[in-house]
Amino acid sequence: MQTQVGLRIDVDTLRGTRKGVPSLLALLERHRIKGTFFFSVGPDNMGRHLWRLVRPGFLIKMLRTKAASLYGWDILLRGTLWPGPVIGKKSPEPMRRAATEGHEVGLHAWDHHRWQKEIERMDPATLTGEIRKGYELLEKIIGRPPDCFAAPAWKVTPEGLSALEQFPFRFESNCRGEAPFYPVTGQRCHCHPQIPATLPTYDELVGRQCTPETYNAHLLNLIQPGRFNVLTIHAEVEGILCLNLFDNFLSQAGKRGIGFSPLGEIYAGTPEIKKSHLAQVTAAGREGWISCQAPLSETCVNLEKLPQ
Ligand SMILES: [Zn+2]
Repeated sequence: MQTQVGLRIDVDTLRGTRKGVPSLLALLERHRIKGTFFFSVGPDNMGRHLWRLVRPGFLIKMLRTKAASLYGWDILLRGTLWPGPVIGKKSPEPMRRAATEGHEVGLHAWDHHRWQKEIERMDPATLTGEIRKGYELLEKIIGRPPDCFAAPAWKVTPEGLSALEQFPFRFESNCRGEAPFYPVTGQRCHCHPQIPATLPTYDELVGRQCTPETYNAHLLNLIQPGRFNVLTIHAEVEGILCLNLFDNFLSQAGKRGIGFSPLGEIYAGTPEIKKSHLAQVTAAGREGWISCQAPLSETCVNLEKLPQ
């Protein structure tokens, strides 16, 4: 039986939208693969984020992954000297193309930088406002409601989950983990299922456990048959600097009988969805905390599988 991997494509910046998404769309078409794109549609202030992180740990990471060549100087400076451009206004076409070419399309953020910097301090009205601005612009661009949501930098709080529940997302992908689950925070079980990313990203692995030359083989070995697999790639990385490397990865995966699907498709094939806690943990190669699935022994039925 073929091993299926959910393919999540995060788009954080204007450059990633403009340059990375069209290249990825062409590549995925050539490999006959559909995935799930998560777009950031509001102001691109990611330069602010990257400079804010200039401290020893981040400098080491910059040197290790050559962040300037990975992201491009325009991204490193974006939003630092002048207000960032609204990505969905400057470059809506790649988002529209992803939808018309049959990919699943979700919201990643209104302001990616603000979410990852301030999520812990955002009150319910601010959270709802951020999501609503992104939701409405993305809906206008693609001509239908976004299918799903993925939190920037794998950061979500109980208040964030409650704000997200006000929108008709079929599922969310806000964290790391092992299998789809309903998140429990405090006494509450939230109604949107979570589809966690299970595999590490390029910048977490390269320079730590492998080199760009050994990256594909290393990643392929992490994909386990019979397990739930979700890979996250970035339009800024796999769609620009590592495009050939990713092309090669898809070819090698194909030879090993590994197929790729949108997250909603692999979720729909999951018969039983557990409830799990959502914990804040630190992860190798990541700044600060990330949200992660944590065990809780109780199962409930996958709501999408119930007869209508
Ligand atoms: Zn992101």
